[in-house]
Parts: sequence; structure tokens; C-alpha cells
Amino acid sequence: MKRVLITGAAGFLGSHLCDRFIKEGYQVVGMDNLLTGNIENIEHLFPLKEFEFYYHDVSKFVHVAGKLDYILHFASPASPIDYLKMPIQTLKVGSLGTHNLLGLAKEKKARILVASTSEVYGDPHVHPQSEEYWGNVNSVGPRGVYDEAKRFQEAITMAYHTYHNLETRIVRIFNTYGPRMRLDDGRVLPAFMAQALRGEDLTVFGDGSQTRSFCYVDDLIDGIYRLLLSDYHLPMNIGNPSEITIKEFGEEIIKLTGTKQKLVYHPLPQDDPKQRCPDITKAREILGWEPKVDRAEGLKLTYEYFKNKIEKGN
Ligand code: NAD
Ligand code: UDP
Repeated sequence: MKRVLITGAAGFLGSHLCDRFIKEGYQVVGMDNLLTGNIENIEHLFPLKEFEFYYHDVSKFVHVAGKLDYILHFASPASPIDYLKMPIQTLKVGSLGTHNLLGLAKEKKARILVASTSEVYGDPHVHPQSEEYWGNVNSVGPRGVYDEAKRFQEAITMAYHTYHNLETRIVRIFNTYGPRMRLDDGRVLPAFMAQALRGEDLTVFGDGSQTRSFCYVDDLIDGIYRLLLSDYHLPMNIGNPSEITIKEFGEEIIKLTGTKQKLVYHPLPQDDPKQRCPDITKAREILGWEPKVDRAEGLKLTYEYFKNKIEKGN
């Protein structure tokens, strides 16, 4: 039985990865310090003998007894309000945390996949973004703590690949949504859905003309799974290229939820990217992957999840 370590296991994406690897017949070791995650996301796995959980901060030395075939490094604050509140932890987990996990991968002769982000493209001058684009990031701006941690993560991962012959994979994840996001994590989808469910107006930042491209979580997890098992070591975009303005997105959520509330406009945060859309040619050609869940379907599934959570009072 193959054994995989997943860091950030109690988070949104990490918990879905745990489910997928259990389903595929792996022994899964989850690791998390619950900085932004929620243990409820993986509670259902605790009774399984295929699942182990370690409460640990991966920015400190990481030790795991026994063999490891794969490591997926997903630990990091990910939403702007989280990383703005915890800038140092964010920089540490992307740098020291990644270094620790690369060291562990080297010791165990394991293949490692690290979670990078479309934020490495910053406020992009090239559209849509292909993996060859080097990005436009303000290193000393508020978002720099996240973007530069992830850029360093990519650089040190490539260095371990080149100098230590480590088997490495780098996924550049574009905005992803679905069940197990935190309602209060400040990202636009939970924010709009929470506002609609609580009878509040939906807060659009700026004039709402900035764009994003939202990928449903199951599609993303499938892309990551395929990338891990592929032999492609350069960064790969995984995301849904269906692009929408934030204003239109708000209107879609008003329609879906049937709320009587309206869009209200707040100032645009500093360095907020104006456009973002993945070029997924590589994922299509190399992994045979493309997203299957369209936004209407994905939003419905996510709304059901949030509605249920609010009705249950958490
Ligand atoms: P999340 O906040 O839900 O999950 C992150 C998890 O990491 C949490 O459970 C948190 O407690 C844990 N964590 C943070 N610091 C840690 C540390 N030092 N030691 C151990 N655990 C720690 O976020 P998410 O949306 O699931 O994102 C997961 C990963 O994917 C992150 O690396 C993020 O940068 C990347 N990513 C996510 C998206 C997205 O749209 N969700 C987009 C791009 C990249
Ligand atoms: N946004 C918004 N209202 C909110 C939260 C976010 O209009 O309540 C905007 C935000 O300014 C950005 C977009 O929605 O332009 C996506 O924001 P999110 O934090 O979800 O992700 P990111 O900016 O990291 O892509």
C-alpha cells in the first residue's frame, strides 16, 4: 500500500485530497496545526485505519516515521484576510515549511508535489496566463507575503529537483471553490454566499470589473492527482478557464440564492489583480485533464453546503 503525507490536511483543499487518496487505496498521513483549518473537515476519516493525523507546525522540523511514497505540501494560509493577518506564518510555511518537506522527501526518496498559486503571476500583464509568464508581483505590497512565499517555494522546489534529483511537481492553482471553504474566510464566494444567506448586501470591491476564473474543487483535485502521477516536473496551471467579472459573479449569486439584497461597492484592496484566467493547454495535452463541472452546477452544490451549515448554526 502506498503511503502519502498531506500537509494542510484539515483545510479546504487538503481535506478533499485526503478523501481522494483514501478512495484510491492509499495510506494517508494528514498533518496540520489548525491555523486556518477545521478538524471537522477530516473527522469522518478518524475511524479509518488507512488514516493517521499529526498535529504539527510544518515550519518546524518535520519527522514522520516509516516509509513515504508521496508528499503533498498544501499547508499555508490561502485567503487574503488570513495571510494579511498572519504574514510571518505565511512566509515561514512557504519557505521554511517547504524546505522541511523537501528535506523529508529527500530522506524518504518520496515524490513531492507543492501547492503553488496563480498569485505567482501577480497583477498579470499577459492574459490568459500561461506557465511561461513570469508575473508582475509587488514584493513589498500587502499581498507580497503570500505571492513571494509561493515564488520562493517554486524556486527551492526546482533547486531540489536539479541539485538533488528529487522527483518534484508544482501545481499553480487558480481560484477554487466548493464545500468545506470557511464561510468567514473572506474569499469572494463564501463572502457573497454568507451575505446572501444572512440577508445582507453583497460587497463588491472596486467597480467589479476585475475578473476571476473559478474552478470546482472536485475538478481541481482530479488535476492534482493526475499531475502527481505524471512525469512532468515543471509548473502546471490547474484551473477553470471560464472567466467572469466579480460584478457578474455577484449577480449570479443573487439569482441563485433568490436574495432580495443588492450589490454594494467598497474600495478595491491594494494590488488586487485586475484579471485572472488560466491557460490550461499543458494540463489538457500532458494530463488529458480539463474541468467538467460548470459554474452553475458547482455554485448550486456549494450553496447547499453553506445553507446547511448556517441552518445548523455553524
Ligand atoms: P485552507 O486555509 O483551507 O487550508 C490550509 C491548511 O493549512 C489549514 O488547515 C491550516 O491550518 C494549515 N496550515 C497553515 N499553516 C500551517 C503550518 N505552518 N503547519 C501545518 N499546517 C498549517 O486553504 P486552502 O484553500 O485549502 O489552500 C490549501 C493550499 O492551496 C495552500 O497552500 C494555498 O496556498 C493553495 N492554494 C489554494 C487556492 C484556493 O483557491 N483554495 C488557490 C491557490 C493556491
Ligand atoms: N472581492 C469582492 N468582495 C468580497 C471579497 C472579495 O469583491 O467580499 C473581490 C476581490 O477584491 C477580488 C475578487 O473578489 O477582486 C476575488 O477575491 P478572493 O479574495 O476570493 O481571491 P483572490 O483575490 O485571491 O483571487
